[in-house]
Formats: sequence, structure tokens, C-alpha cells
Amino acid sequence: MTEPVVRTEQLTKRYDGLVAVRDLELTIEPGEIYGFLGPNGAGKTTTLLMVLGILKPTAGRIYLWGRPLEDDPLAVKRRVGVVGEHDYIHDHLTADEYLRFFADLYGVPHPAERIGAWLERLGLLEFRTLRARDFSRGMKQKLALARSLLHEPDLLLLDEPVSGLDPHGVVEVRHLLLELNRRGVTIFISSHLLSEVEQTAHRVGIMHRGRLIRQDTIPALRAWLRQEPVLEVELHAPVPHLEAQLRALPVVRGVQANGRRVVVTVTPGADHRGSISQAVAAAGGVIVGMHAHEPTLEEAFLTLTDAAVDRWTS
Ligand code: ATP
Repeated sequence: MTEPVVRTEQLTKRYDGLVAVRDLELTIEPGEIYGFLGPNGAGKTTTLLMVLGILKPTAGRIYLWGRPLEDDPLAVKRRVGVVGEHDYIHDHLTADEYLRFFADLYGVPHPAERIGAWLERLGLLEFRTLRARDFSRGMKQKLALARSLLHEPDLLLLDEPVSGLDPHGVVEVRHLLLELNRRGVTIFISSHLLSEVEQTAHRVGIMHRGRLIRQDTIPALRAWLRQEPVLEVELHAPVPHLEAQLRALPVVRGVQANGRRVVVTVTPGADHRGSISQAVAAAGGVIVGMHAHEPTLEEAFLTLTDAAVDRWTS
């Protein structure tokens, strides 16, 4: 049997009183694109830093290609490419110089050709002599991606890699990741948006307050999330504390309040418009419109990763 590329056992990271990652059992199989999802603060970056050997776990173990990470961290690093959430790019270097620095560090053969090819592939060739400080955030992300690929890694770890890209750049990077994956590269990509990984990931893991609350294929996740009907409520004016009051109702599984628009995920099988109206009125709100609708996958995902999770997983 082939070993998973990444496997964690009871992986835990505590910061003083806070458990950033709790008993994480993660497996990433060879050749898969794994989407690591969760809202801000869920523990994604902490996990990634531990897998990279940059952050020391409080407890638990990490295996890469079946070997404990601490056995030979340097050998492992040669097989891994990383793009961090806030990659530090040496601002005074040009794109060319920056990539050259890393190509030398990794002993990349034919560096000039390879650097040129990646700059071209990522649409940065015309900016190769521009200093990184004059790059936009999206261009810096692409440059970091080029850097992570120079030494042809077998595993690519990406932390929110398209957060600064325009829609065209997002599609460009998506195509590149699919192409790399077809060539056998295993890809671990963290994001707080399901839509970002929906079209690429074979499997996703959902983190919530340090715990992995679900791990599934995209079709299975879609089927599971879609079971939840949604009521879209339009208010005359925003109502303070309405979100908490709605969450207290037994029929409510999740709430997303955004000014006058409130999206409430409810339990299936009954019409809950009456009880929601009453709760809004009791909170001092006036409803000017309400309709039930089939949530998009992203909406379902966003309502999933809130307090309702506690009720389901406890
Ligand atoms: P984001 O999408 O915002 O990057 P994330 O899922 O990557 O979020 P982490 O950055 O891993 O989340 O943070 C998990 C939790 O650990 C958060 O509550 C964060 O405040 C906390 N945390 C992270 N680093 C430290 C640190 N050095 N000291 C104390 N707490 C920390």
C-alpha cells in the first residue's frame, strides 16, 4: 500500500489558554488535491506551519511520505513547495533576482531557462526586471508560486494562494494547479472559501476552531450541505444582536447577518417562516421580505462554519 503524502496523528497546538489545533487526524493521499477549509482563526495556518516543521506541535505526530517529519526534515523540504499566506518577498530584488536566489538555494539545474519558463507561464515575464516592491499583491502571489515550483516539488502547500488575485488570475492559477496535479504533484490548498477549491479539490477537510469537523469528497459534501433549506430575510433596518437571538431557536442551524439582509439556515422538513418572523419581531425588527431558497454551496458552507457546528459535533 502507498503511504499517504501527509499524515498527522493527534496533532495538537496550544497557545497559552487557546487550542489552535486539536487532535488533528489528517491524511493526504498521493496525487490528490486536498482543500483545507475553515474561517479565519480555524487553525489552517498553524497546521501548515507544523507540517512544514516551522512550528513545533504541543502534541501528536506528523509523517511525510510515511516517515516521521523529525527524521530528516531537510530531505523532506526538498520535495515540498510552499506559498505562505503573507510570503516575505525581498522587496529590493527584481523578480528575476528573487527567483535566481531560490534557484541557487535549491541547486536548480538550468536556472535561467526554468525561471524564464515560470515567469512566462504566470504572465510575469514582462515584469522580470521590476523590483518586487513595485509588484501588486496578486503579482507577488504569482511570484511566490513561481518560487515554490522552481525545484519541482512533489507536494505543494498553498496557504490562501489566490486571495490577492483578480478573477482572471484565479482561473489562471486554477488551470496551473490542475496541470501540475495531472503531472503527479500532490496539492494541499488552504482557503476560507469553498468556491476557491470547489473546482479543483478531490477532497476537502473543514476546520472549525481547531477541529477537523468533516472530511469528504466535493460531491459528498455538496449532497450533505444541500440538505439545509435557507430563509432569506430582508429587514427594514439592521437589528442589533438579532444573530444571537435567532441562533437560540431550536430550528435554526446557522445565521449570516449582513446589515438588512439575514440568511438563516433552518432544519429541513417544515415551514419555519412563522417562528423566524416572531423571533425577528421580538428582537424589535421589521421584516419587509422573506423567501425560502436553495442555498448555493458557498452559502451553505458559510452558515455551516458557525456556532451550529458545536451542536452537531458535540
Ligand atoms: P486565517 O484564515 O485567518 O489565516 P487560520 O485558520 O489560518 O486563519 P490560524 O492562523 O492557524 O488560523 O490561527 C488559529 C488560532 O491560533 C487563532 O485563534 C489564532 O489567534 C491563534 N494563534 C495563531 N498563532 C498564534 C500565536 N503565535 N500565539 C497565540 N495565538 C496564536
